[in-house]
This record gives sequence, structure tokens and C-alpha cells, in this order.
Amino acid sequence: NMISNHLPTEELQALDAAHHMHPFTAGADLARKGARVITRAKGVTLTDSNGVDILDGMAGLWCVNIGYGRDSIAEVAARQLKELPYYNTFFQTTHVPAIALAQKLAEMAPGDLNHVFYASGGSDANDTNVRLVRHYWAAKGKPEKKVIISRRNAYHGSTMAGASLGGMQPMHAQGGLPIADIVHIGQPNWWAEGGDMSPEEFGLARARELEAKIAELGEDKVAAFIAEPIQGAGGVIIPPSTYWPEIQRICDAHEILLIADEVICGFGRTGNMFGSQTYDIRPDIMTIAKGLSSGYAPIGGSLVSDEVANTVAEAGDFNHGYTYSGHPVSCAVALENLRIIEDEKLVENVSTHTGPYLAEKWAQLADHPLVGEAKIVGFMGSLAMTPDKASRAAFAAGAGTAGLICRDHCFANQLVMRHVGDRMIIAPPLILQKSDVDTLIERAV
Ligand code: PLP
Repeated sequence: NMISNHLPTEELQALDAAHHMHPFTAGADLARKGARVITRAKGVTLTDSNGVDILDGMAGLWCVNIGYGRDSIAEVAARQLKELPYYNTFFQTTHVPAIALAQKLAEMAPGDLNHVFYASGGSDANDTNVRLVRHYWAAKGKPEKKVIISRRNAYHGSTMAGASLGGMQPMHAQGGLPIADIVHIGQPNWWAEGGDMSPEEFGLARARELEAKIAELGEDKVAAFIAEPIQGAGGVIIPPSTYWPEIQRICDAHEILLIADEVICGFGRTGNMFGSQTYDIRPDIMTIAKGLSSGYAPIGGSLVSDEVANTVAEAGDFNHGYTYSGHPVSCAVALENLRIIEDEKLVENVSTHTGPYLAEKWAQLADHPLVGEAKIVGFMGSLAMTPDKASRAAFAAGAGTAGLICRDHCFANQLVMRHVGDRMIIAPPLILQKSDVDTLIERAV
């Protein structure tokens, strides 16, 4: 195969458009305007096929927490590939990387989330969660408890169950979603939907939609509530302070399992190891992926409480699993990634070094004439854009047009920022330094 970095960019783009179907992309657009070809990366910087350097304000897809180009990860992966490239964890077999990572995750996770069920990423981990919580309640003699409540605009993945749990209308509109027994309530997006309420009042009101939904369905029908501590792909929706305590109270009061989808928030992004610690959430299950391996190898999983795991363990075979559950190379890579996060104190970089500086600069963007709200927690930030701050009006050009223009403006300025409608968002690698913050802000405005 002669395709390499040395081919001219236009040729690579034409081959890409001809043969490669991209996620969340209109193929016809690629045929008209080729995709940007990324050829290498180091630290927080990507390089494209024209040799242009780009600051990655999104850490890939919110995942490259330790930054790019880590030799020690490559070495660990190579060693594991030579020693044991693959073996499964089905049918009473196991291997050292899967054991070591499980033990490490149990030690790191808050509360009694002492058990891990491995997946290949976040979507399939959430599929596991759907089956696991229903299986758990059946094992408890309550097979009727199977409805899972989620939120509009949530993102929980692209599989049938993941996208059904998610609350993205454009996804539900394709392929016959959502699957049965998944229902959605509102999201705590005060800026867009809070009306005359204070953020605190609105946070409570949105949390109480959960209690109302449980009452409507009947507590004996509801298995679980799932939510991201901070909604990511929905536009970095940072909840009012009143939201999570009320959600926790409601789940406890009604015997509803709480699933925290930490695929983005986990492993340092919010300034604690887990978003659940930032918001004082006590989940029964946590979905993890992305920052678990910083994207160097595909891996995800469900961290499961003693009560849920022990109940399921006593209930016979759990008829569920993936060929790559606990893939040895991914587990070895994840362990080395976690070592780097801890040894280099990357969570502290977010909470006390670069984080406060980024927060200060980010807040100043609220002075921009088109920015209605600038919010950030740790290394997850969003700007709500509007032509009229007082009324929070939408742009006349139609939802998302201004966001797309800003995204392209940043990209042309050698900065990756993402737009969700007319919200601009960042989620940079956790190694970001203050000088990188200055570059980021300069290139954004
Ligand atoms: N859950 C959340 C909160 C996510 O942000 C994502 C991906 O962006 C997923 C689940 C799906 O993970 P994956 O793309 O690894 O399947």
C-alpha cells in the first residue's frame, strides 16, 4: 500500500472522500471540500499534512488528557503486544493487565465502586449499563423496574442503546430510536431555558422533573437515572449548584440507581479525578472511557458498586461481553496513562495551576459583544453566543450558523475549538500551560 504522509494533501483527501465514511459528517461535503489531514501531534499541538501546527483545544474528542506523543505509552504498548497481544476474559480466563487495571480503578474510584466491567469505549459501556441495571433489578425480584430516565441533549454514545439514552434529536431521527423504556427529561441549561428564574431556582426545578417523571411512571417501574456530571457534547452545560444535590436526594428517596456518565468528566477534566467528586454525587455506576487511556488505545467500562456487582455475581451468568472486554494492550496503556496523570499531578494542573488562569481569561470573553455567557469548570468551557445579550436572542442566520463560522475562524487561526449550535466549547489536554492559554485566547478572538 503506497498511501503515506508523503502523498499530496489533495490526493489523500480525494481517496478519503472516495472510500472513508466519516462519523457525524455529510459525505458529500467531504467530496466538495476535503477533510483536514492530521499527520502527527506532540504535546497540545497537532500538525497537518501541509505542515501547519494547530493548538488542540478539544484534546481530540475530549480524550487526550495527557497530551500527544508520549514515548512511555508506546513502549508499554509494544511490550504488551509482544508478551500477550490478546486473550479474552470470557469463560473463566483472565490476564495480568486486566487484573491490574481493575485493582487500580477500584482504588481510584470514589465510594464503593470496586468492580469494573470492561468495554471498548463509552457507547458500549453504556449498553452494558442498560442491561446491567435491568438485570440487577430482576435479580432483586423486581423485573418491572426497567425504565431508564435520561435528559434531552445528553450524549451517551452512538450504539442503539447509547444513542437512545442520549437526548439528541438528530440522532433519534435516524435509524428508529429510541429503543423501548428510555425516557427523557429537561437539561439544566439555565442560559437557554431558565427564563426569569435564578440559576438556583432553575436547577431545583429541573432536578424535580426527575421526581415528577418517577411519580408519573411509578417508582416500581424505574431502574435508573443516567447523566453526565457536566453535559459535554450537548454544549458544556454546567449545572446550577442546586441541581446535583437534589438529583441525589431523589434517586436515594425512590430507590433509583444513579449512573454518572464520566466518559468526558472522568480522569481529571473537572479539577477532580471524577466529575462525581466535583459535584458530590454518589453514583451506583460510573461510565468511563476517553481519558482512561487518553485515547492511545480504545477502552471503556462501567465502574460498579459492591451492592450491584455482588447482586449480579450471585445471579448466575451475566450473558453479556465484548471480544475486546479487558483487551490486554488497552489495559496496559490505560495503566501507564493513569500513572502519568498521577505522577505529573495533572489533576492539580487543572484545579490549581493552569485552571484558575484559564478560568480568569475565559471569564473575560464575556465582555465580547457576541458572548452572552462564558462558563468553565476545570478544563471544560463554553461560550453562549448571541447578537443581543439582554434578550439572549438567536442569530438571524439560523441556529448553528454563527457557531460554524467561529469554528472555521478558529481552525483557520490554528486552533481547534468545537461548536454546538451557537455555543463554542473547549476541552483541552490536561497538560495545558499558562502560555498555551494565552495562545488559545489570542487565536479564538
Ligand atoms: N458518553 C459520553 C458522556 C460521551 O461524551 C461519549 C463520547 O463523546 C460517549 C459516552 C461515547 O463514547 P465512545 O465514543 O467512546 O463510544
